[in-house]
Amino acid sequence: MDPELIKDCVHCGFCLPTCPTYVLWGEEMDSPRGRIHLMKQHVEGTPITPEMAGHFDACLGCMSCVTACPSGVRYDKLIEQTRAEVEREHVRRPEDRALRAMVFSLFPYPRRLRAMRLPLRLSGRLRARLAPRLAEVNPSLAAMAELAPSVTARVRLPHRVAARGERRAVVGMLTGCVQGEFFPQVNSATARVLAMEGCEVVIPPGQGCCGALSLHSGQEAQAIRLAKQTIRTFERAGVDTIVVNAAGCGSTMKDYADVLAGEPGWAERARAIRTVDVSEFLAGLGPVAERHPLPISVAYHDACHLAHAQGVRAEPRALLNGIPGLTIKEIAESSICCGSAGTYNMFQPEAARELGERKATRVLATGADVLVSANPGCTMQITAALRRMGEPEIPVAHTVQVLDASLRGLRLGAPA
Ligand code: SF4
Ligand code: SF4
Repeated sequence: MDPELIKDCVHCGFCLPTCPTYVLWGEEMDSPRGRIHLMKQHVEGTPITPEMAGHFDACLGCMSCVTACPSGVRYDKLIEQTRAEVEREHVRRPEDRALRAMVFSLFPYPRRLRAMRLPLRLSGRLRARLAPRLAEVNPSLAAMAELAPSVTARVRLPHRVAARGERRAVVGMLTGCVQGEFFPQVNSATARVLAMEGCEVVIPPGQGCCGALSLHSGQEAQAIRLAKQTIRTFERAGVDTIVVNAAGCGSTMKDYADVLAGEPGWAERARAIRTVDVSEFLAGLGPVAERHPLPISVAYHDACHLAHAQGVRAEPRALLNGIPGLTIKEIAESSICCGSAGTYNMFQPEAARELGERKATRVLATGADVLVSANPGCTMQITAALRRMGEPEIPVAHTVQVLDASLRGLRLGAPA
């Protein structure tokens, strides 16, 4: 933990009302200011106690405090360093260690995730029956069963998609682990929209995980290994701009130079590639393809790793606003996390459920026809909350899926 970064906090408390865990529990040590105080104690010599680790673990890493802080405190860097320190120093209970080992040996590996597709294609009713039984064994396992999405058929993307009309750019596309295996329709929509807007899209085969889940959970060595692997993949593909459609992956890849700062030669290689969120890229490129009307209202959900971590809020709204007939409905408390936060809903299921239901209630209050979410974790979290609350599931789409429907003149959700 960098003592210089800790010193930047002037204890003003402006961040407190924006912090989801402080909003839930009202405890100073579960606020950004309280956690920074604990970090200070640790750098001054206090060992990491189980209580301290608990307050750090309870942080969602949502970066809402970074947006709110008038002093520019880099809480994002601080919590990343802290989590790695917790993993080095704190001895977790055997059952927690086992759960973490399972999560980090499954989720960052697309081939292993693929093996989960078959059970997920079984009916949702089976999963609903399974969840309460698992809750008796371990609430985290029950949360995993509840969160599992209903997967659609696998989509094989070509290695290269030609630009439609005059070529305006050549970009690489990250397929992602959870996005690629559980939401392949988002990847196909991304490639189509980019192509229709005049981009040649390079989709290197055999892509692995970008390291986001590992980095956000203190698994430093795994994050470094996966970051290097991702850079190598796109270097080999010969592209220097990588378009990403999952908020958590984009924010991690934009941070690669810092992640790899201690690895000789790698920070330069990281800086040589430019990562952009798909909405950021398309808004910057400007439209050429015709937009057909979509007479729907959408509730746009700000994913924390897009809005707070990358500062991308206006671009997806601008893209949606460019569709004739579409209305955007804002969700109350949009800056408060839905509780997904990477692995948070698996490791902290109770707090995550509370935040998920809080978000789902506010989504329903908009009365929108469709929820638009640019992060697969948020999509699963809000859908699971609606299901648990017994509310009808509102259709959820990624920004590019809405755009794709408009560009092709189809209704949203029509088969590709
Ligand atoms: S990252 Fe989110 S949960 Fe963690 S301290 Fe900041 S606002 Fe609170
Ligand atoms: S993190 Fe920023 S907003 Fe929060 S108490 Fe410190 S200086 Fe104030």
